[in-house]
Amino acid sequence: MQIFVSIPEVKARVQEAKSGGRSIGFVPTMGFLHEGHLSLVRASVRDAGFTVVSIFVNPAQFAPHEDFEDYPRDMERDLDFLRAEGVDVVFTPPRDAVYPADYHTYVEVHGLQERLCGNSRPQFFRGVCTVVLKLFHIIEPDVAFFGQKDAQQSAIIRRMVKDLGLDVRIEVCPIVRDSDGLALSSRNAYFNVDQREAALCLSRSLDLARAKITAGERNTGRIISIIRDEIEAEPQAKIDYVEIVDADELLPKDKVEEGDLIALAVYIDHIRLIDNLII
Ligand code: AMP
Repeated sequence: MQIFVSIPEVKARVQEAKSGGRSIGFVPTMGFLHEGHLSLVRASVRDAGFTVVSIFVNPAQFAPHEDFEDYPRDMERDLDFLRAEGVDVVFTPPRDAVYPADYHTYVEVHGLQERLCGNSRPQFFRGVCTVVLKLFHIIEPDVAFFGQKDAQQSAIIRRMVKDLGLDVRIEVCPIVRDSDGLALSSRNAYFNVDQREAALCLSRSLDLARAKITAGERNTGRIISIIRDEIEAEPQAKIDYVEIVDADELLPKDKVEEGDLIALAVYIDHIRLIDNLII
């Protein structure tokens, strides 16, 4: 496994692999890797001839009051995980290589970026799209892997790729959870024992919604009430949003249909968590 910090050097290595006839799989991450990230890495190693993983904590997607400085980092551990998965190249650019001091250009996906998480994190998807497009230009992957865990992010990336006519296939991989249901997230590292227990109300509420829908309920107002009641019963939890939307435009639905997305964001104390379910 080779590790690159320089843009020209990683470009040269990937182009060499391409000219040798290998297809390029790419997994962008912010590091502090867990089984969720590794499920994307495994999909890439399986599907593509040459896998590139980036590790870059992207300052553009954090608001000034958010946790950019405190975001968990452990490069040595991440590299050990990636070596064990058979990754070919890890790309970890320094901040000023991606955003030099005179940087001005940002990518926005209007409409989609303002919905769901966009309300409480207005800068977030602009930062995500900008860094993902930059990374796509550097790596020029044939296929890139994203997690359903960040459902809105996946929908927005798919839309950016379509709107800009980018020549990359987007694969979205299922949410990986702990055995008790908690969706894996690098930010789970912030929890104490009580908070982690409280955080289970997210997946529990989605399980209740799934059971209700399986039993025939289609009215989104009633399904949302069931989810909210379950979360509000947890004293440490505070709901940011619970919505049922279509998976492409992310617009609210009255009646739930196959393919729709139940998405929620909840604060456990000051830690903001997201989770979702595709019907
Ligand atoms: P991050 O490092 O948080 O930016 O995540 C990098 C990629 O891993 C994104 O495409 C995420 O959606 C994906 N990911 C994060 N957590 C999970 C999870 N629990 N299951 C599946 N994919 C995940």
